[in-house]
Amino acid sequence: MNQKSLKDKKLFIFDIEGVLIPSIENPKVYQSANDVIKELREKGKKIAFLSNISRTPWNKVADTLVELGLASDRDEVFTAGKVAVEYVKRKRKEARVFVISEYGLLADFSQEKNITLTSQKPVDFVVIGLKRNINFTEINFALECVLEGAELISCGYTNYYIGEYMGRKGVFIGDIPICEMISFTAGKKGEYIKIGKPSPIIFQYLLSKYQVEPSEAVMIGDKIETDIAGAVALGIYSIFLESEERKSHFTPPIYNEKKEPNLKVKNISEILNLFQ
Ligand SMILES: [Mg+2]
Repeated sequence: MNQKSLKDKKLFIFDIEGVLIPSIENPKVYQSANDVIKELREKGKKIAFLSNISRTPWNKVADTLVELGLASDRDEVFTAGKVAVEYVKRKRKEARVFVISEYGLLADFSQEKNITLTSQKPVDFVVIGLKRNINFTEINFALECVLEGAELISCGYTNYYIGEYMGRKGVFIGDIPICEMISFTAGKKGEYIKIGKPSPIIFQYLLSKYQVEPSEAVMIGDKIETDIAGAVALGIYSIFLESEERKSHFTPPIYNEKKEPNLKVKNISEILNLFQ
């Protein structure tokens, strides 16, 4: 393990759930997270927060982190939903977008004035998030749009997840298999944009916003398969937080590429010992 000094790093990217708070629904800041972030700011470091969340709108996540005193500004907060919106805005000035999702991602897209959320053609982008009662009417419409040239985007990078809906507890299919099905059926197997860790787009977007090179950034996360694998693939210094106290996230078996982090810590405050 390479324990080099973090003195020269410019940007510290924190995963949110499991690192700073248990979850957005249970936003109780872990002891020492506030102190670590405050001290990093005093050292002149830039701070960013990065989550694959799309079930909760970016606005809500950003406001929560600001209220908790973790983020100094909403612009420090990046979610898969927000980055999907930004991706669409960068690709097209006035876009017509068909979204299959529950409330969070729909809210992210509906708040953009140059984006029209629609279920009528023409459609420029089809965005798939998590929807526990997804149905074939909307999947067929998405397929039709893709066959006619719409760009397909998966948001959240989830294979399946464990949840509860209308009294039913169990597993629910995520965005990735829906995009695999649509792209396969359209004769373009695997041709879709993946927005969510470990896919590079979400990291690259964040780095470009801060104008920081991967070698100047540090990622702190509690999931090897997403936070760490994504950072390692891009050459971002990665710190894996392993702690019994943290909520152990469910990780679906899509992420088979496990990467070794540069460093493992048991407590987030250990980061502060690495500035000598
Ligand atoms: Mg996490």
